[in-house]
Amino acid sequence: MMVEGSAIGRPAARLMVVLAVALAALAAPRPAAADAFTNCVASKWPAARKAGVTRANFDAATRGLTPDPKTLELVNKQSEFVKPIWEYLDTAVSDQRVATGREMLAKYRSTLNEVARRYQVDPEVVLAIWGMETSYGSYMGDHNAVRAAATLACNGRSRRDFWTAQFAAAIKIAQDGHVPLSEMNSSWGAAMGHTQFIPTSWQAYAADYDGDGKRDIWRSIPDAFASTANYLDKAGWNYQETWGYEVVIPKNFDHSLADNKRKRALSEWSRLGVRRANGKDWPRPGDQAYLLYPGGANGPAFLMLPNFDVIKRYNNADAYALAVGHLADRIIGGGGFDQSWPRNERPLSRTEVEEMQSLLTRRGFPTGGVDGKVGPMTREAIRAYQKKVGKVPDGFASSTLLVDLRRH
Ligand code: CA
Repeated sequence: MMVEGSAIGRPAARLMVVLAVALAALAAPRPAAADAFTNCVASKWPAARKAGVTRANFDAATRGLTPDPKTLELVNKQSEFVKPIWEYLDTAVSDQRVATGREMLAKYRSTLNEVARRYQVDPEVVLAIWGMETSYGSYMGDHNAVRAAATLACNGRSRRDFWTAQFAAAIKIAQDGHVPLSEMNSSWGAAMGHTQFIPTSWQAYAADYDGDGKRDIWRSIPDAFASTANYLDKAGWNYQETWGYEVVIPKNFDHSLADNKRKRALSEWSRLGVRRANGKDWPRPGDQAYLLYPGGANGPAFLMLPNFDVIKRYNNADAYALAVGHLADRIIGGGGFDQSWPRNERPLSRTEVEEMQSLLTRRGFPTGGVDGKVGPMTREAIRAYQKKVGKVPDGFASSTLLVDLRRH
């Protein structure tokens, strides 16, 4: 807690005492809530048994278990503001992270190359995921996977069955001797080890590469590399076919073509006037790709290959997948993007999207309801409005758009 003590006079000090007493009362376990948690955890036994956990191990793992307060805090926090993708990328693909990635590539080159050959997955992408997930193992989270999963299974807002499965799987992993339960470090959301696998993903994809019989993504870097490569391989990675290309779109382009369900061959994109930002030809013109410009038509545009969606299987967010792909390219010597981001813009908050939807609807551009989410109908409404007022109809929900809508 921050101390601002020296300036505090007597009345404030008294208030501090009152506050301290109140906080102590809050911190003390309230019997009803504690019982509810204990009862909830106990009720997970059938799920654990089904996952192959023994009664003795279930009892040992759950004895005295309490909810993880930080997990509770984070799961109940609904983020209102959306970070612009360029700010996210500034941190995710910082010069420091690129430099460390290059050091790690030099240090683990032979292991990475062996893993890459065995699983047919590009080594720099495995490295980039490691960099993104835990800054190359420098921060794996200070939570415990069993405790975090139990908290989410009993107190989470949603998907309690999913978290129950994670809880049971985590106990089973420790039971099988891969890592002691006390060392099963995870994020607040039970993502574990160097490359942040949730317990059921660990069960499906973790690999023992160093041959000690343990699939140890906490303490063995070769195991962590192989596990990530195996995950990407099983998700359909196309070896040596990269994730996508930065492209420039022509003026008067039909922006409704920027849709991840509208794939076409790179050669067809060329016919529509789309070219690579660096001016080079496509290595494989027949590859299927979709067009994405995550910061609107005023920012960099990309043609995304199937590997982009494979990265999204690891974490289903365009910003994440773009960061992984870009970090991988930077590690092996690539430069920054050729086009710049519209840093004078910012994405709209949920409340602002609702306001935008109301304003669009009122002006005769129906958004199919006011739900704070930019779906296909809202994008269509934005495009129609942009066309009407003579703006580039990219369907991007930006701060400028909202200011414009408020004014007219
Ligand atoms: Ca191992």
